[in-house]
Amino acid sequence: MALPDNPIMFANNPLDRAGHLRPNPDWVAAQLASDDALIVPLWQLNPLVLPELQPGDGRDVGYLPKAAFGEAWSDTMQVVFLGLNRRQKPLFAADISHMSAPEDMGPFKGMGQFEDLRGLAAAGDMSRTELAILAQAKGILDWNLRTPFCAQCGHPSQSAEGGYKRKCDNCGTEHFPRTDPVVIMLATHGEDCLLGRQRGWPDGMLSALAGFMEPGETLEEAVARELMEEAGIEVSSVSYLGSQPWPFPGSLMIGCMAKASHRDIQVDEVELEEAHWVSRSDIISSMAGQGPLGVPPEMAIAHQLMKAFAEGAD
Ligand SMILES: [Zn+2]
Repeated sequence: MALPDNPIMFANNPLDRAGHLRPNPDWVAAQLASDDALIVPLWQLNPLVLPELQPGDGRDVGYLPKAAFGEAWSDTMQVVFLGLNRRQKPLFAADISHMSAPEDMGPFKGMGQFEDLRGLAAAGDMSRTELAILAQAKGILDWNLRTPFCAQCGHPSQSAEGGYKRKCDNCGTEHFPRTDPVVIMLATHGEDCLLGRQRGWPDGMLSALAGFMEPGETLEEAVARELMEEAGIEVSSVSYLGSQPWPFPGSLMIGCMAKASHRDIQVDEVELEEAHWVSRSDIISSMAGQGPLGVPPEMAIAHQLMKAFAEGAD
C-alpha cells in the first residue's frame, strides 16, 4: 500500500530507485544507453525546465533523450541515476556546468530555462512529484560534485552505483551521500507558540526555530538543546510531525512540536534577532494573509508546523 499524499514540499517522490539493481555498473550503463533513457540536464545545479504548452498548463522538467545532448555530452561529466518511473523508463540527471551559456547556445538553446529549485518550488506551476524528483537530482548530483576527493586519504574518488556511492581506488574507502539532519520545532505553551527571526529576514517575518543535530543526540534531545540555546526555553515533551528533503545543499528538515515548561525567553542574540510568543489566533489570521506576521511560504516545513498549530496541534 502506498503512503498517503504528503503536503510537505519535496515529499512524494514516485520513482523506484532500484537500489537492488544500481550496484551493478553494467545494468546502470545499459539503462543509460537504452533508447528509453530520459536525462535532465542541470547547469550549476539548476535543472532544465520546459515552458508551458498552453497558459495555465504548468511547466515540465526538461527530460531529454541522450541524443539531444549532442556535443554537450561528455563521458567525464557527472551523471546520476534517479530511478525508474512508473512506465519503467530510467531517469538520470547530468551535470552540464562545463557549458558556458546553455540557454543561449548549443543543443539546449531555445528549449527552456535552467532554474533555481527553490524559486521553481515557490512558483507553484510544476507538479509536486516532479519537484520531489528534482530535489533528489540536485541533492545527489551536488554531493558527487562536492566530494571529488577521498576524505580518508585525499586521492580522487570515483562515483559508483549510479552516483549513490563514491569509492577511493587508493585506500579502498567507500563514501556514501551525506544527509545532514536539522531539527525545526515549534515550542508551544497553552494557546501560544514560540517564533523567532534571524537577522536579514524580511521585516515582520517570523518562523520556527531550527538547528543542526549533533552526533550523539536523539531528535528530542536536539530539539530541547536548540530551544534552550536559542531562546532559554526548557521543554517537557517533543513530538514528531514530519520531515522534508532540503537539498540546499544536503539537509533533511525534521519538523517537531515541543511543549515548553515555562514562558520566560532569553534570546541568544548571536543566533536570533528576536523571539516571541505568538497566539494561536494571530497564527491563524496571519496564515490567511490577514494577520500581524509575515509567515514562511508554503514550501517551508515551518509553514506546515504553524499550520498544524493553527489547526489545534500543540
Ligand atoms: Zn582514499
